[in-house]
Amino acid sequence: MKQPEEIELDLILTPKDASDENTIRKIASTRLGINLNDIVELRTIRKSIDARSAKPKINLKIKVYTHQAPAFSYTPPQYKNAIKGKEVIIVGFGPTGLFAALELLQHGFRPIILERGKDVSERKKDIALINRNNAMNINSNYCFGEGGAGTFSDGKLYSRSKKRGNLQRIFELFHYHGAADNILYEAHPHIGSDKLPAIIRNMRETICRYGGEVHFNCLVDKLLIENGQIKGCHTSCGKVFYASNVILAIGHSAHDTYRMLHDQGIRLETKGFAMGVRAEHPQALIDSIQYHSKTRDPYLPAASYSLVTQVKERGVYSFCMCPGGHIVPAGSNNKGLVVNGMSASHRNSPFANSGIVVEIHPEDIPAPFNEYGELSGLYFQEYLEELCKQQNHDQSLKAPAQRLKDFVNGISSKDLPPCSYLPGIVPSDLHKWLPPIIRYRLQEGFKDFDKKMKGYVCNEAVIVGVESRSSSPIRIPRDAETYEHIEIKGLYPCGEGAGYAGGITSSAMDGINAAEKIVANA
Ligand SMILES: Cc1cc2nc3c(=O)[nH]c(=O)nc-3n(C[C@H](O)[C@H](O)[C@H](O)COP(=O)(O)OP(=O)(O)OC[C@H]3O[C@@H](n4cnc5c(N)ncnc54)[C@H](O)[C@@H]3O)c2cc1C
Repeated sequence: MKQPEEIELDLILTPKDASDENTIRKIASTRLGINLNDIVELRTIRKSIDARSAKPKINLKIKVYTHQAPAFSYTPPQYKNAIKGKEVIIVGFGPTGLFAALELLQHGFRPIILERGKDVSERKKDIALINRNNAMNINSNYCFGEGGAGTFSDGKLYSRSKKRGNLQRIFELFHYHGAADNILYEAHPHIGSDKLPAIIRNMRETICRYGGEVHFNCLVDKLLIENGQIKGCHTSCGKVFYASNVILAIGHSAHDTYRMLHDQGIRLETKGFAMGVRAEHPQALIDSIQYHSKTRDPYLPAASYSLVTQVKERGVYSFCMCPGGHIVPAGSNNKGLVVNGMSASHRNSPFANSGIVVEIHPEDIPAPFNEYGELSGLYFQEYLEELCKQQNHDQSLKAPAQRLKDFVNGISSKDLPPCSYLPGIVPSDLHKWLPPIIRYRLQEGFKDFDKKMKGYVCNEAVIVGVESRSSSPIRIPRDAETYEHIEIKGLYPCGEGAGYAGGITSSAMDGINAAEKIVANA
């Protein structure tokens, strides 16, 4: 009898069995009733952990091939030589700008990218200096430079969108440019901050190979607009670039650029955002809570969590949880202090950190910041970041911190537990200086989290200030159909900074969509 050539199979395995391809082959051959030697190749389509019981299981969806498996499970991108193509300026080389550029190239359009920061190799040096507690380079840091905030991010490619199908092409483009196979199938794909820089460099090489241009150290300091139509961009390096289509992909940390747009009379709007702190626990503690066991099965990855609650009609939730990761100084100026988190692909540091943030609606913004109109959220954000830095009296990047249990109980911490944040932490009464609308909700939120994850609020956990850049407080309004700014033709605000995305994948998707609109409108 002729055997089917490709069979899909769902398996529930122990972590050990799931880690060994030979074991999976044997189990698959028994389950399918086929000879072990007839299995030519196995491909994992999806992998997730079910940790609800004391013995966690791995859910695997695999494809079993009894003949040569297809060479690629996706069609590689077809780039055209765009050297003579219609030029489109892209301001900002984060995931939004990058994926917009790659999409334009597939249609023969020529992306001209203007990026205020440095290329990834030079940027790495500036980031090393920041971690050694040197002053921040305001154009080259965790937020600015090649690949934007995505390059030295955690590289988790999760999205709240249920339509993974739409996101699959983003995973495929990452894979095509060097990401590991597992991002194509894992339920929670993660690239890792050690792997991202090389992938981003490969993407830039594709853009340049097909006729695109990338200009580093090139801050856009003025948009050229005539009679409601974009004409180009003026830059800090003195050069002016002209095009009738400009994608504005500036991310949410470019406060100076928001102000430049505001000063030019370009319509902006306030929007809801979130601010809070970063919480860090020993990874072993999170493992023991999540895996219901004193020690982690060596075949299981560092455990993660996702928590959400409501306090006084506002959401309090975990954000960008990094198992086996590090807390990093993720600000972009020397006046304030901002933290965020990341982890390397192996997720093997002894710490588990996560942003814990409180939802802030425009009407929550207290006086006097609420007097700044469209920029209210920006002023409140800057106030908190500067207040945070003032707690550390030597003006370095050392971050104010408090034991989580002390914060919840409203008492000072005499000392602090070990922490992954390289510039160092200093004891500080966050329960006294955080604005009440954030402080109270965090304290109550943590109490609720401790009910959901017993032992979460403990003496070994520390909170570090402040996680203020989880989302943009500003929207740059655009037409829902054409994606053009509602008042300026040819200007396409998109990505996180325009308020239409949050995270790497949704920003990349927004960039692709904007590029498609430009192609369709041409
Ligand atoms: C430490 C850290 C960890 C993170 N981890 C994750 C994660 O695991 N998963 C996830 O999904 N997201 C993560 N994020 C968030 C993610 O990086 C962002 O959501 C994403 O990068 C937003 O993409 P973007 O292209 O819209 O903006 P950005 O990535 O912010 O890029 C904007 C770019 O525009 C440039 N720019 C700004 N103004 C100008 C100007 N006037 N002229 C020229 N250039 C300009 C900036 O230099 C920057 O390179 C993390 C962020 C940080 C900081």
